[in-house]
Amino acid sequence: MSREDSSYEVIIIGGGPAGLTAGLYTSRTRLNSLLIERGLIGGQIANAEWVENYPGFPEGISGFDLGELMHQQATKYGLKTLIAEATGIELQEGQKIVKTTEGNFTAKAVIIASGSERRKLGIPGEDEFTGKGVSYCATCDAAFFREQPVAVVGGGDAAITEALHLAKFASKVTVIHRRNQLRASRILQEKAFSEPKINFLWDTIPEKIEGEDIVKRIGLHQVKTGENLALEIGGIFVSIGLKPDTDFLKGTLTLDDTGHVITNEKMETEVPGILAAGDIRHNSARQAIAAAGDGATAAIYAEKFLTDF
Ligand SMILES: Cc1cc2nc3c(=O)[nH]c(=O)nc-3n(C[C@H](O)[C@H](O)[C@H](O)COP(=O)(O)OP(=O)(O)OC[C@H]3O[C@@H](n4cnc5c(N)ncnc54)[C@H](O)[C@@H]3O)c2cc1C
Repeated sequence: MSREDSSYEVIIIGGGPAGLTAGLYTSRTRLNSLLIERGLIGGQIANAEWVENYPGFPEGISGFDLGELMHQQATKYGLKTLIAEATGIELQEGQKIVKTTEGNFTAKAVIIASGSERRKLGIPGEDEFTGKGVSYCATCDAAFFREQPVAVVGGGDAAITEALHLAKFASKVTVIHRRNQLRASRILQEKAFSEPKINFLWDTIPEKIEGEDIVKRIGLHQVKTGENLALEIGGIFVSIGLKPDTDFLKGTLTLDDTGHVITNEKMETEVPGILAAGDIRHNSARQAIAAAGDGATAAIYAEKFLTDF
């Protein structure tokens, strides 16, 4: 990107449903807009095998295709995309300087839509074996574990969705959950309980991951009995929740105690001209359609901010 391309009316950070919808709206109203994405266009939804609750697709749609279509639609109206990581935002005389791994970019308004990333277990062996049997995305990696026993750590919607997906490939799926019941929705629980390949280890927490070149076993602790055990497995899928991607905003915006950005109903933050949309927001519904709705709202109020600028 040349130097004359470094100044925009709106910069959007994050290419998930919130950022892509914001980009569609800002570009369509002819605002010179840049979307900055550090990884896969589509964000988290690109990892969803099949999305059945995004309106307009009665038969459902693959999450990857949904992200691609959103990007195509926004690009058609002139949204530019830069693959880079935003590392900070500086405020300078009404302008916002977005610092990235590919240089600095200036805008009058910024929409933050940087979503969430998976939480880690924080146990010995996790980092060492990431990509060598430890995964955070069953949709991405399940096929590598054909006919092998695997474990899923977690008990919410995402963990059970991952377990059901893995059951199509693995020989056996053990769900390891620290409580004695799942948090996942009833419909997912019913599906998991009736899947013969899925079994459950309740009240159990992982303590260490061991192997040689690849994962061989997970060391577990049963909290009720105090017993330690080891499970021989080929893969471990960690699905214990999400962490908002807001580290780069520290010092620019006040975050809530879970690291989410606080906005009003117009998606405005405490800094005029900086808006936030999607999973990154305090109390977001953490769904693709909600993120898209936030993105549209943020774009509309970013435009209003620029009109009054
Ligand atoms: C496996 C899975 C299945 C799901 N299934 C469904 C479903 O069926 N229906 C549904 O409604 N929801 C589903 N969800 C939830 C849905 O995907 C999210 O609610 C939605 O994607 C949130 O959108 P977002 O744009 O706010 O954030 P994200 O989708 O998290 O996108 C944020 C983007 O910002 C990028 N980013 C972060 N930090 C930076 C930075 N510093 N610089 C540049 N880029 C950055 C990230 O790489 C990411 O692409 C699922 C999620 C997962 C993980």
